[in-house]
Amino acid sequence: VSHHGPSASGLYAGVGDGEPVGVDADLCQALGLRLAERVVVATREGVVREARGSDDALLDLAPLSGKCVGLVDVPRDDWDAPLLLRAFRESAWARATATRFELVSLELLEKGHQRRISSYDFATGFERAERPAWLIEVLKQSAGPDAWLFGPWLGVKRALARELAHGVGVAVGEVTSPLGGVAGARFEARRDALLAALGAELRRELVQAVHVTGEGVALELEGGARLDADAAVLATGGFVSGAIALTGALSGAEPAGFELTIRGLPSLHVAGAVDPISSLYGVDLAARGRRLLEHVGVAASAEGRVRGAARVYVAGDLLGAGAPSVGQALTTGLRAGTAAALGH
Ligand SMILES: Cc1cc2nc3c(=O)[nH]c(=O)nc-3n(C[C@H](O)[C@H](O)[C@H](O)COP(=O)(O)OP(=O)(O)OC[C@H]3O[C@@H](n4cnc5c(N)ncnc54)[C@H](O)[C@@H]3O)c2cc1C
Repeated sequence: VSHHGPSASGLYAGVGDGEPVGVDADLCQALGLRLAERVVVATREGVVREARGSDDALLDLAPLSGKCVGLVDVPRDDWDAPLLLRAFRESAWARATATRFELVSLELLEKGHQRRISSYDFATGFERAERPAWLIEVLKQSAGPDAWLFGPWLGVKRALARELAHGVGVAVGEVTSPLGGVAGARFEARRDALLAALGAELRRELVQAVHVTGEGVALELEGGARLDADAAVLATGGFVSGAIALTGALSGAEPAGFELTIRGLPSLHVAGAVDPISSLYGVDLAARGRRLLEHVGVAASAEGRVRGAARVYVAGDLLGAGAPSVGQALTTGLRAGTAAALGH
């Protein structure tokens, strides 16, 4: 069960941080993720950084160390390729590895208005049947770089980065996505396709309460409907998805507090707080810093079993287990799902 609201996964940049544990190759492939000890990605903000994985449409710079990367220059309002070029060239990684970045101007705008449409719409334009072959020809005509680095425009449904790489014979990929860009949209589409392939029934409804019953768990849905289950795994996210709400003000003008928007669960706690907070009402965020938000969640065992609510498990950002990350969401999701299925 999932509702139509926002999700951190749908907004993310395409980079996988954290420590992914137990994620097998089939799952990675289905979700379009590349997990490794170390990948090197270029961000849309001009940073070159290491991570534990990424959307596989992002260009992995690690194998391109010491080579020449062609940075695509397109006159879009949200894309300043000359500025990015300077930032990438001067990055600590490029200097340490003697990797070169070169600006290559490509005529990718079919119409003038494409310079200001959203990067999501610009990306879907390349998925039209005839466009990949055309793009391959454009890249071949400018052949020279050992890889091509695009903006976040390489499609949502098609594996365009892979198609282009296959067509031109060198690596092709993107920088990270902006909020609401293609990386999150790709993830959501692949997740839904995977669930459909597994025969899971998806319901788009808001869960308002969780009731632990004698035999199992009942989810109370918006509108009064009820869903009975043997066990429930809550991967409802945290603040971004609205599962945890902030009351009061960050400024400290009114006392800040936190509340879980799903009823029936034990109250929220602050995970790993060195200095325990006795109540999550009246928390002074100005004094404690905003990173406190990353530690607010539902207390659970290592398998994700909620303390005080039998057969209810939590995973992902709802755990409030520190800096939210894709690696953490995958690892804890697999653990909680396995424990719920086995009744541990
Ligand atoms: C802008 C941004 C950039 C990020 N960048 C990175 C990065 O570079 N690297 C990295 O590793 N991580 C990054 N993250 C963090 C990462 O995306 C999250 O940690 C991860 O996606 C959390 O997944 P989740 O499944 O726990 O929660 P979510 O993805 O938030 O999913 C929660 C789901 O539950 C649903 N839901 C919520 N409440 C209810 C309810 N009451 N009833 C029914 N459904 C409900 C929501 O609709 C949503 O579908 C970023 C996050 C954001 C927001």
